[in-house]
Amino acid sequence: MHTGLDVSVDFAARSLAGTATIEVDRLASDAPLMLDVRDLEVRGVQVGTVGELRPLAEANVPWREATFTIDDAEFGQALSIDMPKGVDAVRIDYATAPTASGLQWLAPEQTADGTSPFLYTQSQAIHARSWIPCQDTPGVRSTFDAVVHVDGGLTALMAAEVVPSKEAGEFRFVMDQPIPSYLVAMAAGKVEFAELGPRSGVWAEPSVLAKAVSEFGNVEAMIDAVETLYGPYRWGRYDILVLPPAFPFGGMENPRLTFATPTILAGDRSLVALIAHELAHSWSGNLVTNASWGDLWLNEGFTVYVERRVMEALYGREREEMEAMLGKQDLEKELAELPAADQRLATDLVGRDPDDGLTNVPYEKGALLLRLLEETYGREAFDPFLQRWFTDHAFTSVRTADFEAFLKAELIEKHAPQAGKAPVDLEGWIHQPGMGPGAPSPHSDAFDVVDAALKSVLANEVPVNKLDTKGWTPHEWLHFLRALLESLTPEDMATFDQAFGLTGSTNSEILAQWLEVSVRRGYRETDDAVETFLLGVGRRKFLTPLYRAMMESGRQADAKRIYGKARGGYHPITQRTLDALVQDG
Ligand SMILES: [Zn+2]
Repeated sequence: MHTGLDVSVDFAARSLAGTATIEVDRLASDAPLMLDVRDLEVRGVQVGTVGELRPLAEANVPWREATFTIDDAEFGQALSIDMPKGVDAVRIDYATAPTASGLQWLAPEQTADGTSPFLYTQSQAIHARSWIPCQDTPGVRSTFDAVVHVDGGLTALMAAEVVPSKEAGEFRFVMDQPIPSYLVAMAAGKVEFAELGPRSGVWAEPSVLAKAVSEFGNVEAMIDAVETLYGPYRWGRYDILVLPPAFPFGGMENPRLTFATPTILAGDRSLVALIAHELAHSWSGNLVTNASWGDLWLNEGFTVYVERRVMEALYGREREEMEAMLGKQDLEKELAELPAADQRLATDLVGRDPDDGLTNVPYEKGALLLRLLEETYGREAFDPFLQRWFTDHAFTSVRTADFEAFLKAELIEKHAPQAGKAPVDLEGWIHQPGMGPGAPSPHSDAFDVVDAALKSVLANEVPVNKLDTKGWTPHEWLHFLRALLESLTPEDMATFDQAFGLTGSTNSEILAQWLEVSVRRGYRETDDAVETFLLGVGRRKFLTPLYRAMMESGRQADAKRIYGKARGGYHPITQRTLDALVQDG
């Protein structure tokens, strides 16, 4: 399948309009073509024969009008197009709705520089259909080419290779590697580029660029680290686009062009594991893709595992172990609340919005299973095995059963567990709820020191403001703050805040954790900071716990008031989560 996109960005109307041309492999000569759409205004559909004609966006063949129907379906509508004998392509003339769930239109004041509007897409999991008619499943892949028109001196970017264009306001792209619809991505705004390495760089608003360059200075070393472990990077360039703070996620692994939240720009590279994560997706996810969203752990669990290996290679085992411990804490906390059916690695999301599957289970439980396999069989056997998994399944979409079969044939039957190691209970890990049997225990000596410090504070052996935190990394602070949640009084927190200035922290992870502790412990001095944070940041990972803390601490009225002000600035994905939590709460 190949897709040609020719669209114009209209900031005033908050709409993309143009054509999508799709060349298909016809498997049944008389079957209609079924496409997913959501709230698209379909202005006309034509069919034709394009053969190998490329680029497809502007392919000039005799097009003829086609008959089509649009019927309501779960999660959008089904566009059914009659395909006469001999035709191999459809051209759909369409426009997106201002409410398209995959697009966020930002007013200038919602950007860092405040001068120009900004548009970006977020297609995962099933939002591509709200801006491109497509077969919106990770089980189908397409190559594509695109022309994007945008006025006002703004730059259009896509997660694709840039093709030079001579026209002002016209941007051309091509993606020769087949990708699923959830990885199609576009942005438009006032952004500038800076090089990071021979094949890597960063795009950001002008006022953010220098900070981004220094934060991401080790990206080239990260690429080298993954290549050493798992084989060559298959996508040409690796660039990062820093988005305005409304972006609902930490990052999105759009191929060749990671989309990232500015909340990872801590100034000390303490949060760059997120970049290691998005980069790792260039192997796990983008190259070898979950065929359905119920197999998400094949994307995310593998990616967290690879991310930790990269962090170990660049920063050493101690930092990796701290991050692994924090990850396991997140998982344990969530397992205590999730329904049993959502605690399995291989889940069944039929009839449900796949965005609901984005819990810590596919991420952290998945990564723990891979770590357990690594510990059981040793890196000597496990590393080449994983590399082969990526190489043998490159550019395909796979199911959990595919991995189970490959694992048995290529690792378990060829290697014995190392001395003293029991075989891994795969059934228990993949198909049963709860933490898997014999789960690995990441361990950080640095966290032992933090735990001892916390103990001495709680036993009143050391006053809270005399705590020796010299040399603590943000990870140690995070571990400390999480443990504090249960213990400190508001008076202690005031003393603590005075000593360590946590309300003024410029590290978003520490600030978000501190604010959550403050709300839960009734420390009201942070009220202004909470409101500022909720109004300024759109990252769901931070917003959800903070709003939840307010809802559960008798602060419902405040939560609803702030949400009322902030909601318009949040992404539709964030709105959907918070509507359920705050509005209906
Ligand atoms: Zn991921």
